[in-house]
Amino acid sequence: GKQADIDVVIIGAGPSGSIAASLLHQAGKRVVVIEKQHFPRFSIGESLLPCCMQLIEEANMLDAVNAAGFQFKNGAAFRYRDQYINFDFTDKFTPGPGTTFQVERGNFDKLLADTAAEQGVEIRYGETVESVDLSADPTLSIRDEAGKLYTIEAKYLLDASGFGRVLPRLLNLEKPSNLANRSAVFTHIQDNIGDKEVDGKPFDRNKILVSVHPKNRDIWYWLIPLSEGKCSLGVVGEPHLLSGLEDNLEEMLLDMVKQEPGLNQLLSDAEVLRECALLKGYSANVSTLATDKFALLGNAGEFLDPVFSSGVTIAMQSASMAVKCIARQLNGTPVNWEQEYSIPLMRGVDTFRTYVEAWYDGRFQDVIFYDDPDNKIKQMICSILAGYAWDESNPFVNDSRKRLNLIVELCK
Ligand code: FAD
Repeated sequence: GKQADIDVVIIGAGPSGSIAASLLHQAGKRVVVIEKQHFPRFSIGESLLPCCMQLIEEANMLDAVNAAGFQFKNGAAFRYRDQYINFDFTDKFTPGPGTTFQVERGNFDKLLADTAAEQGVEIRYGETVESVDLSADPTLSIRDEAGKLYTIEAKYLLDASGFGRVLPRLLNLEKPSNLANRSAVFTHIQDNIGDKEVDGKPFDRNKILVSVHPKNRDIWYWLIPLSEGKCSLGVVGEPHLLSGLEDNLEEMLLDMVKQEPGLNQLLSDAEVLRECALLKGYSANVSTLATDKFALLGNAGEFLDPVFSSGVTIAMQSASMAVKCIARQLNGTPVNWEQEYSIPLMRGVDTFRTYVEAWYDGRFQDVIFYDDPDNKIKQMICSILAGYAWDESNPFVNDSRKRLNLIVELCK
């Protein structure tokens, strides 16, 4: 039946949904989360950025996350041919946390959702949002576990459905991404790396390793250490570059690993732990991010690319920004959603966009692999790689294109 006393209904209990729910609850709002699946459930997006620790703290979830035993992370390593470059996230321009974790998202997302529930948030699992009516207050039509349809009405609606993209589909907001169509093939492995080395350097489990294909810089790999000797392993490229794509994903992934000598050496004893998965054309965009009735969070809005592991950070940042606007609106102050939510959120997304585009056209790779960097400049870039893409005091945020062009010239 109808439940007239709900302030905000949230579609999806991933990181953006759980953080938003917790923050709204803290602000004294009555919130209900509708989640299609039962947790834990698999999700890709396992390497977090330090910036998101601030948002986890805002949601009073830091103790729970710190205590969960996830793999510690303090930076990113990049490899191309015989070059091996480290970014230490604690040595950065922007103040704030410099370390974070790499997580199996099944466990991580369940922890955030359970913590929100302990705080008092209601989450309904196994229920799917099927349609939406915005002619008056937002009203959702929901299929419950028994297969029955019911409706929920709320004063405001948040879409945190990630790649489910519920509102973009139902409200026709989908807009093609201007990034090239790329695919990812990935799995989990028992890495058995032990004390294997690459170019005389031991593998650093505290950093994500991003390796560039030695012959084709459009192809890159992630190796993300997880707890218990496991790693997430994936390769990304335009579909025609990933040989024999859909026939046998495991064979294809292992063949791609063989083509990168450093990875091949590290993973010579690795065992594949789960069926390899393929995600095609993951980049997405929308025509509208928010109105006075709904806002899109995280991946339900724009998704760029996984190369800098920015997805969960953007998801949580969007939740924090949206909640501040909702709280004001529900308390009677009109909100200009374009000025107060979409534009400020997109500032950070656009920062990442500058570096993602320059990664694929090769310019940012030249900067990353430059062997004699200026320390101050490296700290500013490190801030962005650590997720602080909204820090306007960083020239590489505030004036990202111009600054990047300048150092591209310097690195030549
Ligand atoms: P999600 O975590 O996707 O949660 C959405 C939830 O909504 C799901 O639980 C789903 O079941 C639910 N849902 C969907 N439809 C409905 C419906 N109709 N009704 C009810 N519930 C519904 N990010 C990083 O930070 N680090 C990385 O290393 C990283 N690597 C990536 C690698 C690849 C190849 C890709 C494609 C992405 C990667 N990302 C990474 C991005 C990351 O996966 C996402 O940004 C992140 O999961 C977004 O979180 P979210 O809360 O928006 O959505």
